[in-house]
Amino acid sequence: MRLDKFLCECNIGTRSEVKKIIKTGMVFVNGELIKQADYKIDENIDEVSYNGDRLLYKTNVYFLLNKPAGYVTAKKDNFYKTVMEFIPEEYRKKCSPVGRLDLDTEGLLLITDDGALNHRLMSPSHHVEKTYYARLDSKIGVENIEKFKVGVDIGDDKLTLPAKLEILDTFDEVFLTISEGRYHQVKRMFESVGAKVTYLKRVKLSFLELGDLEPGEYRQLTDEEIKRL
Ligand code: URA
Repeated sequence: MRLDKFLCECNIGTRSEVKKIIKTGMVFVNGELIKQADYKIDENIDEVSYNGDRLLYKTNVYFLLNKPAGYVTAKKDNFYKTVMEFIPEEYRKKCSPVGRLDLDTEGLLLITDDGALNHRLMSPSHHVEKTYYARLDSKIGVENIEKFKVGVDIGDDKLTLPAKLEILDTFDEVFLTISEGRYHQVKRMFESVGAKVTYLKRVKLSFLELGDLEPGEYRQLTDEEIKRL
């Protein structure tokens, strides 16, 4: 990695600011004064110091898991296996799931050690969109598209926020996009219109899609996706 990029990623300044800092002779690599911004370092091995302080390169990790049914979305549980089992052992301690999916729900679940991102994605004021595929125990009518758009009473103080319902040709399979994360929200929304969810899978969170990951499989987010999030 270039030295100026490394300093940027350590939040020392913008690219142009850190270039100036390097030029003025404030940065040492393995004890040697380096004045070239494009000097190449190995961020995992080389010791970089600025103003006398060693800079530690900290990168976060982001796993996108296809959660299988039967696993609890928690770091620890006394009865069930948890979703943490699917990520490499060395990351389990520092990472946490972003939000939660029910024990019997499958699908897209982020697991990360980026606490700020976790908080932002879960914050009720952020209205991050989540799309679910659901199978129902009975066929539902198209009038529910409008009902869900307006908001339904699921027994809380407030109606649900506008949600997008797409009914598939079978009429007992749907895609539902919501922008809140209330307890058992999808199941309760369908209950409110007389249907029971028999299978639930989250397929999308914001712009992130589950894709063709098998249950239990994960992938790491790309740099592009991390920036966009
Ligand atoms: N809504 C539910 O009812 N269950 C989930 O797991 C997620 C959303």
